[in-house]
Amino acid sequence: MAWEFAMTKAGPPKCNIVEPDAAADFEKRGIERLRYRGMRITRPRTMVLRVLGETRRPLGAYQIRDRVRERGGSIDVVSVYRILAALEDVGLAHRVGGTDGCVACTASRSGPHPAEYLICADCGCVEEVPIPQPALAEIGMAASRLGFQGRSTRIEVVGVCSHCR
Ligand SMILES: [Zn+2]
Ligand SMILES: [Zn+2]
Ligand SMILES: [Zn+2]
Repeated sequence: MAWEFAMTKAGPPKCNIVEPDAAADFEKRGIERLRYRGMRITRPRTMVLRVLGETRRPLGAYQIRDRVRERGGSIDVVSVYRILAALEDVGLAHRVGGTDGCVACTASRSGPHPAEYLICADCGCVEEVPIPQPALAEIGMAASRLGFQGRSTRIEVVGVCSHCR
């Protein structure tokens, strides 16, 4: 048992707490989506989903491997990368560039989707919010004016979260 809140007692009290219900819900939703996409439900995939669902902090592949192993699973980093790529494809995980890690998607949208990430510079938690449609359109227009064909859009806002303020 290595829940985030058990390990960060010294940190801000409410930050990064994912209620067990919410974590279980993410795992369940993840399994349903993998099944819907015709992907096999393997133990390593399930465990990566669980590990991602239990935190609001982005995790790198090595951290995910360690956490899976703490829970008695066996997995190597190469498999973690492969699983993360698959989860990204179906919109269950996002890579947050500014933090060099992956987070569980908290929206219920299938497939890759544009998103805005609020990254706390103090505690490292990440919150996902949708990019407002007009902003998304503006960004797309600015890109096409430069002859640039965008594939995906993400916005990263660095600041201080409500728990740390
Ligand atoms: Zn926070
Ligand atoms: Zn998302
Ligand atoms: Zn914070």
